[in-house]
Amino acid sequence: MKGLYDNEMKLEFTSKTSNEAFARITVAAFVSQLDPTIDELSDIKTAVSEAVTNSIIHGYEDEEGIVRIVAKLFGNSIEIEISDNGKGIKNVEEAMKPLYTSKPNLERSGMGFTIMESFMDDIKVESAIGLGTKVTMRKKIGGNIENENLLEEA
Ligand code: ATP
Ligand code: MG
Repeated sequence: MKGLYDNEMKLEFTSKTSNEAFARITVAAFVSQLDPTIDELSDIKTAVSEAVTNSIIHGYEDEEGIVRIVAKLFGNSIEIEISDNGKGIKNVEEAMKPLYTSKPNLERSGMGFTIMESFMDDIKVESAIGLGTKVTMRKKIGGNIENENLLEEA
């Protein structure tokens, strides 16, 4: 059965810092089928790494939990959902502001969300205290391909 998307993968892993590289490399391998440039791949890896690190260090803090990634391909776009069942964010709007961090003493710069926003085309953050956080990001691969096709058709 063909769904709304062309392809999908799901990944669940324990919230250990050592799994951050595993997560970003796995998503990079999955998106490779869209033939991204090195720069696009690097943007996606950085955004995934920021979101996964947030789930591990802020969502679960010292506890251990499960971080979940769902990645979907729609045409030449990828949508990546990274979620945890951790402590949640009280004020998402404030948390997303550049330089905002709740852990300034841990050498955090408060730039994770800003980096995700600038490296991806779109980001949505949903969170509930005590329930967890879900970050959904989208990026179009080969930005100009669609326009080129339109020009060819015209
Ligand atoms: P940096 O990413 O630069 O190391 P940071 O993680 O504090 O610093 P952001 O990634 O922008 O900065 O996140 C901002 C704040 O949002 C965090 O300090 C934290 O309070 C909150 N936050 C982000 N992700 C989560 C999450 N998954 N669960 C709970 N709180 C989160
Ligand atoms: Mg962060």
